[in-house]
Amino acid sequence: MASSPARIFAELNAVRPPDQARPVMGTAVVVGGSVAGLLAARVLSDFAESVVIIDRDDLHATGARPGVPQGTQLHALLPGGFLQLEQLFPGFRDEAVQRGAIEAPPASRRNYLDGRMKVVVPDDADSLAGTRPFLEGLIRRRVLQLPNVKTVAARATGLVFDAAAATGVQVDVDGVPGIENADLVVDAMGRASRLSDWLAQAGWERPATRRMTVNLNYATAMFRRREANPEPALVLALHSPRVSSDVAGAAYFAVEGDRWMAMMAGYGDNRPGRTAEDFVRRMREQFPPEFGAVAGNELLGDVQTYHHADSRRRDFRALTRFPARLVSVGDAVASFNPVYGQGITAATLHAACLSTYLRSKPDLSEPAREFFALQEVVVDAAWSTSTSADLALPHVHGPYPRAYRLRSWVSGQIVAATVTDVAVARRFNKVVSMREHPNSLVTPGVILGALRANRRAR
Ligand SMILES: Cc1cc2nc3c(=O)[nH]c(=O)nc-3n(C[C@H](O)[C@H](O)[C@H](O)COP(=O)(O)OP(=O)(O)OC[C@H]3O[C@@H](n4cnc5c(N)ncnc54)[C@H](O)[C@@H]3O)c2cc1C
Repeated sequence: MASSPARIFAELNAVRPPDQARPVMGTAVVVGGSVAGLLAARVLSDFAESVVIIDRDDLHATGARPGVPQGTQLHALLPGGFLQLEQLFPGFRDEAVQRGAIEAPPASRRNYLDGRMKVVVPDDADSLAGTRPFLEGLIRRRVLQLPNVKTVAARATGLVFDAAAATGVQVDVDGVPGIENADLVVDAMGRASRLSDWLAQAGWERPATRRMTVNLNYATAMFRRREANPEPALVLALHSPRVSSDVAGAAYFAVEGDRWMAMMAGYGDNRPGRTAEDFVRRMREQFPPEFGAVAGNELLGDVQTYHHADSRRRDFRALTRFPARLVSVGDAVASFNPVYGQGITAATLHAACLSTYLRSKPDLSEPAREFFALQEVVVDAAWSTSTSADLALPHVHGPYPRAYRLRSWVSGQIVAATVTDVAVARRFNKVVSMREHPNSLVTPGVILGALRANRRAR
């Protein structure tokens, strides 16, 4: 590929849907109707005559659902993902706010690093706060309004192949087997996707899976909120691995339904929130005072916990034998330490990869290598952001990238400078919110700026 990763990343961020539909296939079948599958379906609605979304859950029901067990946990929508959603669904922000989402411009967000409040970056991008089922529901509503998209409630059990291509999906509908024929199959089955097994069973290569064990324990609880327009609306308190090896951090957001949603996370044996009392006590004792104030409100329901064992990615790009008419998106390809809130935003960029690939009028009888090459840029970027911090944790043992010690020192300087320096923080925010490629941080200007800021702060 001629272009640099940073340039491809910028082009993907700038992708817009075509003005008019440009069908290049009959039916596209998306397996998995969560965020990544819905976003792929939105893109495919412009390039396929019809789009079928298969999910084992009833996608017309509201609230948390079994197919997305992480749905009870706090989810941040990064500004990069928010911008992408507005491009895919014009008017998304207005509709979200009208339905109860809380706007979170920079002035209403507060960030702490190791207990020190960070400088506010004045013209940084906006975000929205809402529960995960609420955000997914907004996206789903818009996708299911598209006239050529329909859903099928079924469990996918395998793929159908001819000699060189995927031609359909085997399904089980209440014990009755069937097949959904497809001109393109999209795997959006999440991090437990069975695609690798199905490929191997049919005699194809299995993608290598890279894992980084993080052993992260999440806990999320809801509290009643009395303020209609709270300031701040969104507070994040992260602990850097160099300072704390077991407390990952905490956050709370104002969400729909006059509630606060609060989360905390710990590594290894640190398992917050096994009881409501434990959750409230830690909010009061381990984090800045406003966390204690939120925990002083009425607790609504139970504390929900979730164990996240590893960050993982499946390397489809490296496969030499791969069927045509098949791609994979979202957590099925790469899922990261959730503390960095990248999953939904990464899925919007995977959708941009799909749009770019289909716009190029590819030969669908060949494996989608151009798609996987674009997607690798997005996965590499998100992976490097999340794993560069995780590698500093004592219980994480690689794999280490080249020149790890130097990279780690540089990123430590940049992260420390975000507490006091607006220019460094602005550039850093663009990268962690996935609006810019991580390479944009590794410039002499940014590094020198960070060193100077840290010297001033000392
Ligand atoms: C604790 C935690 C916190 C997180 N916090 C954030 C955050 O703050 N911000 C953020 O952006 N991301 C966050 N994420 C990541 C985010 O949840 C995902 O990236 C996002 O949901 C996109 O996932 P997905 O659509 O690829 O897969 P999933 O959401 O996992 O969905 C997979 C879908 O596939 C369906 N499915 C699976 N197998 C089959 C089958 N055989 N047949 C039919 N259907 C099937 C399931 O029912 C489900 O609907 C977090 C993740 C975790 C675990």
